[in-house]
Amino acid sequence: MSKKKLNIESILIHTGGYPEKETGAIIAPIYQTSTYVQESPGKHKGYEYTRCHNPNRTRLEECLTELEGGKYAMVTSSGMSAISLIIQALPKGSTILCGDDTYGGTFRLFTNVYQNLHKFIFVDTTNSEKVASLLKKHKPELLWLETPTNPLLKITDIQKISSLAKKTRTLTVVDNTFMGPYFQRPLTLGADIVVHSMTKFINGHSDVVAGCIILKDKSFYDKLWYLHKCIGPNLSPFDAWLVQRGLKTLAVRMRAHQENAFYLAEYLSNHPKVERVIYPGLSGHPEHKIAKKQMSGFGGMITFFLKGGLEQSKKLLESMEVFFLAESLGGVESLIDHPAIMTHAAVPLTERLKLGITDNLIRLSVGIENKDDLKDDLKQALIKAFK
Ligand SMILES: *Cc1c(COP(=O)(O)O)cnc(C)c1O
Repeated sequence: MSKKKLNIESILIHTGGYPEKETGAIIAPIYQTSTYVQESPGKHKGYEYTRCHNPNRTRLEECLTELEGGKYAMVTSSGMSAISLIIQALPKGSTILCGDDTYGGTFRLFTNVYQNLHKFIFVDTTNSEKVASLLKKHKPELLWLETPTNPLLKITDIQKISSLAKKTRTLTVVDNTFMGPYFQRPLTLGADIVVHSMTKFINGHSDVVAGCIILKDKSFYDKLWYLHKCIGPNLSPFDAWLVQRGLKTLAVRMRAHQENAFYLAEYLSNHPKVERVIYPGLSGHPEHKIAKKQMSGFGGMITFFLKGGLEQSKKLLESMEVFFLAESLGGVESLIDHPAIMTHAAVPLTERLKLGITDNLIRLSVGIENKDDLKDDLKQALIKAFK
């Protein structure tokens, strides 16, 4: 649409965000329609049926393509349906090498739903020698990365790992939900496919469940599109409209999330009742250097360990007044989560303990409220937790 190449803050607002032609309405209407009238059989304006195409989705896809530096984007009804489409697009009997610290729902999908269709091998993707040797041995079709991971915020070097994968013609997928396209753009670092749960930072207002896939390769995109048309995991016009509205403020939101998260990470690091804080922006984070190289910011997620057990964790969670106790992340409101009981309950206990998801581990999705209100909330709840 634009002649000049825009910067990210402007892309968010203008790419796909052009006025509607008929009336000049600056904001696109919600095209709440199932079908489109044709001039003569087969002669139409590119829209036939909303399971296949809808202008609200088209606009959002234009913006996402540009944001991630891809050629194609596809929005879907949830992050899980986006992930599912990618897995279904592979030939039967494929091998997928997958990070061992992925989102609980992804782990469940791979091990309980698709385990008979493909072979899944799990590995710590921060260990590049291990990844290299498994790539060589299995020549997998797909390498599935999440960086930073959830909830331990481990960081994988996307450039290094995706270049290893290229040697065995393995496609690299990055689930970029935790950073979002404002702070991290995996396609520009060598990844082949990016997937997001747009439920999180991209929409940012905790009122939509949605997903997307962004990529450069036309033939893989065609496969995904065909599957989307056949299976029907389509995002509703209203939800696409809401996500596009939310996306406009991504840059200002991400900067605010990060400022608050940094502030709280430092506060917690110095708190006597806190054993350890994980935040990629802290110089003590094991992969802080990689984070600095591949991300333009450190995001809004913090994980910390209490000097206590389940009892203190529960008391802390119940005492929060500004933070809401809820699953999910990436919204403007701050959320607190207990992964062992809540988000990661689907991960078997032995696996969870192996990963380090213990009963004193707490995850924060830091919102964009006033940072001192958030700090004071943690302060009072930490006192109550240890009374
Ligand atoms: C939430 C989440 C998903 C799943 O997305 P839904 O929109 O809930 O279906 C996938 N990956 C990550 C990293 C997530 O946080």
